[in-house]
Amino acid sequence: MSNYIKNNLSSIWKQTLDLIKNSEYFDIPVFTTWIADSSIYDINDDFASIVVPLKINKQIFEENLPFIQQKLSEVMDKNITCQILLKSEVLTKSANESNKVSSVVLEDKILDKYTFENFIVGQSNRESHAAALSCAYSPGKFFNPLFIFGNSGLGKTHLLHAIGNYVKENCPDKKVLYIYSEDFITLVVNSIKDKSIEEVKDYICSVDFLLIDDIQRLAQWGRSQEIFFNLYNKLINNSKQVVITSDIHPSELKGIETRLISRFSSGLSVGIDSPEFETAYAILEKKLEGRQNESVLVEKKVLEYVATKFSSDVRRLEGALNELFFKAILYNPEIIDLNFAIEVFKENPTNRPDEALTVIRIKKAVCEFYGLTRQQIESKSRTANISVARQIAIYICRTHLDMPFAKIGYEFGGRDHSTIMASFDKMVRMIKEKETFSSAVSKIESKLGLS
Ligand code: ADP
Ligand code: MG
Repeated sequence: MSNYIKNNLSSIWKQTLDLIKNSEYFDIPVFTTWIADSSIYDINDDFASIVVPLKINKQIFEENLPFIQQKLSEVMDKNITCQILLKSEVLTKSANESNKVSSVVLEDKILDKYTFENFIVGQSNRESHAAALSCAYSPGKFFNPLFIFGNSGLGKTHLLHAIGNYVKENCPDKKVLYIYSEDFITLVVNSIKDKSIEEVKDYICSVDFLLIDDIQRLAQWGRSQEIFFNLYNKLINNSKQVVITSDIHPSELKGIETRLISRFSSGLSVGIDSPEFETAYAILEKKLEGRQNESVLVEKKVLEYVATKFSSDVRRLEGALNELFFKAILYNPEIIDLNFAIEVFKENPTNRPDEALTVIRIKKAVCEFYGLTRQQIESKSRTANISVARQIAIYICRTHLDMPFAKIGYEFGGRDHSTIMASFDKMVRMIKEKETFSSAVSKIESKLGLS
């Protein structure tokens, strides 16, 4: 294929589709549903390979092949013969031609194991779960983009795959693309190098769902951001559903252009938090179901212990359970009881429950008390309840951890030391003057085992 043709495949096919459409050979609905969703994979001399998503598209193309060939021949100004390939066939073909970047995009990265069915819903993730479900049911209608933010290990990636699996099962004609932000950057960089960027862009623009994971990673790459921004706008303008995850609130994303951030905030942003006890317990039970063929039994008290001690993130919960089963294989107990569990976690420092008072535990307790996310209390927001929660967290850090003001400032969204000092002084006054504040502080302190 000449370089000129290679670089202009998408424009050649677009002109051909325009000719086909304008000829009124197909009714508009037939054209839109079955013909338009296609692309050219390559043209070699007088032979072109056209790619379509489903068998039914292939059938319709093949029934009308002479007409389609004629239109492509008009654009190319020479006689062209076409073969029609399914996307899945192209994938295998691409695997053999490893320089074809589009295979990276076309590849289905959605993991079967993460579904809505096996996602446990509790207070900590209710909103993000409901919003993800609505996007899967009614794409592009309510929340676009949906932006899910929260710490690592709390189920963001799980929800993205759950949307993907839902769509694949219930709307097989819809195209859904899951992509990790760093893979997007690699893809853009490589496809610019080998000049297939236009194909990549065309492909991304043609999807119905773009599920993009860990967007904060996009921060390090200027050029890719520009490309992402344009693709993103096209998708949103065409009411295609975009779902984004990040470990921080959109307004806190650093190194990402402000115009992009303001677009992210134009849909719905929902936080996802550490699971509270009941959710953590239910997750553990669910994970146990998946291990039914293992012979050793686990005492209920052990689940309660793990749910209390390891709930800062779900990955840790799973890790703790894995550790128990692993040790059970080694030591072969009759039953995994509380004593066994305590011994196991005592041995392994990386899996030891968080007993010590830390800034993270303080933030978590304050957030639970006020029903906020950690990102909210670290943010610049001046909303009354967020400010109060932040001041209380700062007060507890200072009083019980004896931390320098500058270090507390660093922990709370990079504030300077005089701001933190002022917050602390204000809270000291408020506690003296108002019962609501003193009682909130003592409840949180008692939850942290401080009183
Ligand atoms: P994140 O993307 O937020 O870092 P993941 O989605 O990768 O987190 O979740 C980490 C692990 O925890 C995964 O194995 C996931 O299945 C599990 N997990 C998280 N939340 C839930 C939940 N609510 N129900 C069941 N499993 C969960
Ligand atoms: Mg993730």
